[in-house]
Amino acid sequence: MIRRTQEIDAILIELNKSIDAHYKWLVKMFRCVVSSDVTQPDISGDDSHAVCQFGQWLKDHPQHDDDECSYISDIHATHEKMHLLGKELLLAIVEERSHSWHFDSFQDALLAFTSAVMDYKIYLLTIRSNIDVLTGLPGRRMLDESFDQQLLDAEPLNLYILLLDIDRFKHVNDTYGHLVGDRVLRSLASNLLSWTRYDEVAYRYGGEEFIVIIRTKTDEQACQAGLRLCHLIGQKKIPYPEGEIGITVTAGITRVQQGETLDNGLGRADRAMYEGKQTGRNRCMFMDEKEEITLVGTNDQLTPRVRA
Ligand code: GH3
Ligand code: MG
Ligand code: MG
Repeated sequence: MIRRTQEIDAILIELNKSIDAHYKWLVKMFRCVVSSDVTQPDISGDDSHAVCQFGQWLKDHPQHDDDECSYISDIHATHEKMHLLGKELLLAIVEERSHSWHFDSFQDALLAFTSAVMDYKIYLLTIRSNIDVLTGLPGRRMLDESFDQQLLDAEPLNLYILLLDIDRFKHVNDTYGHLVGDRVLRSLASNLLSWTRYDEVAYRYGGEEFIVIIRTKTDEQACQAGLRLCHLIGQKKIPYPEGEIGITVTAGITRVQQGETLDNGLGRADRAMYEGKQTGRNRCMFMDEKEEITLVGTNDQLTPRVRA
């Protein structure tokens, strides 16, 4: 769903190479004009847009979500039109019937194509700038900006916010130093990426606070998911050059109603988490819509105590 920095960089590099290939394509077209050559498949073939290098890139490029699909389909449409009008211009010149509108149309098509590519690049760079530098997880801004849509998209399932705060993380920094603290945050982030399911998204929300958005049917299932993550985090030792560090988290989980704001939901998850800190840490708490807080379980209990 959400791409990682390296993945975005790889897409941008491939995209740039494919654009370079299109400059070469343009020069090749000049050559075809000069030599009246109408036999090149990527210039005057029926599906020239599909056989050129850029067309190959489009064919092989995987798309992740609706936004991305719409950028790619704009690129696809403008790319195809550019090829079509390029071919018409070539034939018109070779057959000595060209008008200035042949040139104008081709120029407009070229500009529409580069503009569609630029829009997609801006989209990718916006995502990239919202990725947390230390952990590689999407950051707070990404959640803020996408939350309302995520809530709508969750239907008919319910959407839950799981807030995870590392217990006594200051102590980790004080004991092992900030660099090891950073390593712990990175390891936890990469563990969360591998432990979360395909439709759960993990964010680094603040210093040592992470959020997982969970879509599921019942409170019980969401609590089970939250407790499972707390349990996994508590079990997994994090290696550092001189040994291993064990961490635990305290979690707050709450369901967000349709139409509710992220701040509202976060406020509840935060209060549930705070109650968990007050009552011993290393546990998962649930706050329902009446703002009643229940202990879901402590790290060593895998069966949630919240009813469906
Ligand atoms: P609690 O169990 O109550 O959550 O205790 P805590 O020590 O985890 O909470 P507190 O808010 O007192 O301290 C959080 C610490 O997290 C303090 C801050 O220096 C550290 N921290 C925040 N961001 C980073 C970071 O990017 N790297 C490192 N190494 N530490 C960070
Ligand atoms: Mg904190
Ligand atoms: Mg903490």
